[in-house]
Order: sequence, then structure tokens, then C-alpha cells
Amino acid sequence: MWSPAYYIGIFLFVMPWQQDQYTAKREKMVKQQIERRGVKDPVVLKAMRTVKRHEFVPAGQIGNAYDDRPLPIGYGQTISQPYIVAYMTEIIKPQSNFKVLEIGTGSGYQAAILSAIVKEVYTIEIIPELGKSATEKLRKDCKNVQVKTSDGYNGWQEHAPYDAIVVTAAAEHVPPPLIRQLKDGGKMVIPVGSSFMTQMLILVEKKKDSATTKNLIPVAFVPLTRRK
Ligand code: SAH
Repeated sequence: MWSPAYYIGIFLFVMPWQQDQYTAKREKMVKQQIERRGVKDPVVLKAMRTVKRHEFVPAGQIGNAYDDRPLPIGYGQTISQPYIVAYMTEIIKPQSNFKVLEIGTGSGYQAAILSAIVKEVYTIEIIPELGKSATEKLRKDCKNVQVKTSDGYNGWQEHAPYDAIVVTAAAEHVPPPLIRQLKDGGKMVIPVGSSFMTQMLILVEKKKDSATTKNLIPVAFVPLTRRK
């Protein structure tokens, strides 16, 4: 009875069921957490329905992967709440021909969402271990993403200018190198404020070498740290 065929049978039976379970969880996440709060862009909703968030969280958090909150990913860092990922992605008005820079790779989930929508994604992570594990996760399905370990404050000049920049760690001010690396007409979304006070998500729009800013919503991100 306990033959290999038995185990293979169980495996084949359980695997598709689990996939369906996650598809259903993503559908519920999109309806209840994201659409209900006003995110409408069809390409963003499609990416949120498709990308397997449970593959970007640590093994011990898989059961919580589709919860309406951020989750720990080790090294004192977090994967953002699904709604915040969707909101930040929608706000840059992503187009299929876009080149996007992300600061704060973390789990790689936000990069994977962008990867499903735009042409090229460049993402920078300051913690080498997180950069490495995100690279491994993104390698399979997100071939248009490149990860680099460094201090994202300085951006990634080599691939600039960018149509959009998404910063997923809270800065004390908008880093000037990032504004310089935006295209004319480009958009940057960035949480600004200290980690102990309310931070504000800000939309920066660059037009003819000047930048306008607009306050969006209060948020709580881990801090943008600097390499000494
Ligand atoms: N976008 C991530 C969220 C990660 S949390 C996701 O989808 O999971 C923010 C990340 O920013 C952390 O991993 C943190 O290590 C990283 N970070 C903090 N300061 C940074 C800096 N100066 N440059 C690059 N990454 C930074």
C-alpha cells in the first residue's frame, strides 16, 4: 500500500488542488482588498490576479500570503500589503513599453507585478541576501527584471532615464539622483517621512527639468537605509 505510486498519486492529487486554492485566494484578494478600495487599471488587476504572491513569502508565511497586510520577509524587512503594491503600480500609469526602476527589491513581489505589465524592470536591494533570493525567484518567470545589490539612493545610471520609478522604502527626502534619472514626463512614487512618524506616499512628476509633488495617502514603510 505504501508504494511509491501511492505517494505519486497523493502528490498529483494535492498539487492541482493547491494551485486552485491559491487562484481562488488571489481572486478574493483582488475583489475584496484592491477593487473595493478603488484600483481600476485592468493591467494592474490582471497582474495582481496572475502573480503568485505565495511564492514570494517565506515558507512559514505561505498561509498568510493573501492576507490584507504586510508580512515579514526576514532581515527586519517586509513585503508590502497587496493593496499598496496595486495602488503604487496604478499611480505610475504603467504602459507595456515602459522601463521602470524599483528601489527596495525585498521579496521581489513588486518587481514581479511590474514585470507582468512593462517592458523592462531594474530593481535595487541593499541587503545582499534579499537581493540574491529575489534574483532566484524572479529568474524563472520574470526574464525582463534585473536585480542589483547596492544603495538605491543613487539610482541605476546605466539604464536611465526611466519612464517611472517606484520606491518601496521610506526616505527622509526625495533623492535628487532619482529625479535626475526620470524621463521628462516621468513619474515617481515614493513614501517620505521617518519610520517613527506618519509617512506620506508622494507622486513626483518631472516636467521640463522641474518636478511637482502631490501627497497621496499615509503609509507605513521600512526606512530607506544608506550605505556608509
Ligand atoms: N518591494 C518590496 C518591499 C520591500 S521592503 C517587496 O515587494 O517585497 C523595502 C526594501 O527596501 C527592504 O528589502 C530593504 O532592505 C530595502 N532597502 C532599504 N534601503 C534601501 C536602499 N538604500 N537601497 C536599496 N534597497 C533598500
